[in-house]
Amino acid sequence: MATILAVSPHLDDAVLSYGGQLVQLCTRGDRVIVYTVFAGLPSPPYSPAAVKYHQLWGLPDDPVRARLQEDQLAMGLLGAAGMYGPFLDGIYRRDGSGGWLVPLEGRSGGDHLSAEPALVAGIAEAVGQLIADIGPSLVVTCSATGDHVDHARARNATVMAAMRTATPIRLWEDLPYGCRTDYIPSLPGDVALASARIEHVDGQAWETKMHAVGCYASQHQMLVYQGHSIAEQLSTHALSRGRFHGDQCYGELAWDIAGPLTNAVRTPRETEN
Ligand code: ZN
Repeated sequence: MATILAVSPHLDDAVLSYGGQLVQLCTRGDRVIVYTVFAGLPSPPYSPAAVKYHQLWGLPDDPVRARLQEDQLAMGLLGAAGMYGPFLDGIYRRDGSGGWLVPLEGRSGGDHLSAEPALVAGIAEAVGQLIADIGPSLVVTCSATGDHVDHARARNATVMAAMRTATPIRLWEDLPYGCRTDYIPSLPGDVALASARIEHVDGQAWETKMHAVGCYASQHQMLVYQGHSIAEQLSTHALSRGRFHGDQCYGELAWDIAGPLTNAVRTPRETEN
């Protein structure tokens, strides 16, 4: 029995992007722990962007607590254990000059915002502590496909923590962003993506993943794209990825990383200065 640590930026990302693999790992008897980084409880006043999202989610009051409950249901279906970080979602954070990090129009590009070195260092420390506590044989996290600021921060911090502890790490394709873009911001230090691996998801695991996706009801409306539900987007994409394994096969894309597995990983750009 192996222990796998999945580091999810938000309450839903691990399931949306890599839920099929996580189900299969649980089914074969591995211990899977999903640590959601940006699960901190915000307090008002909220940014205009946060107010807009709360309305879209149908959660005007205490939104994160409700989303934690959704996640706990999803974790139960997967057979995984959920753990939650204290860090605030980007829509609740301020930038270096005191303004809201994410403006109302929803800019989210990780490379185009003010650096948050203390945040990245804090996440790296929390993930490093978790690695020390549970001793995973593998850490999986997002690749930051699509360059969402929170995804880039969580990824960079997790890569740093894995490198410091010499723990193997794998990065998943962020969905649904990966349905529309293959842009991945550069990785910290001397790390690079190794060749892609399309991981096969069997029919039963896929069904469980879709049930788990269904648990995040507050997010469904926001995730509709050009009239297509999140379930439709994920199925279409997984069948196209899975073609590598055969017709009507579901697949999830991930990468191992190439680079020095040393304790001396260089500080990423956003932690400089
Ligand atoms: Zn996310």
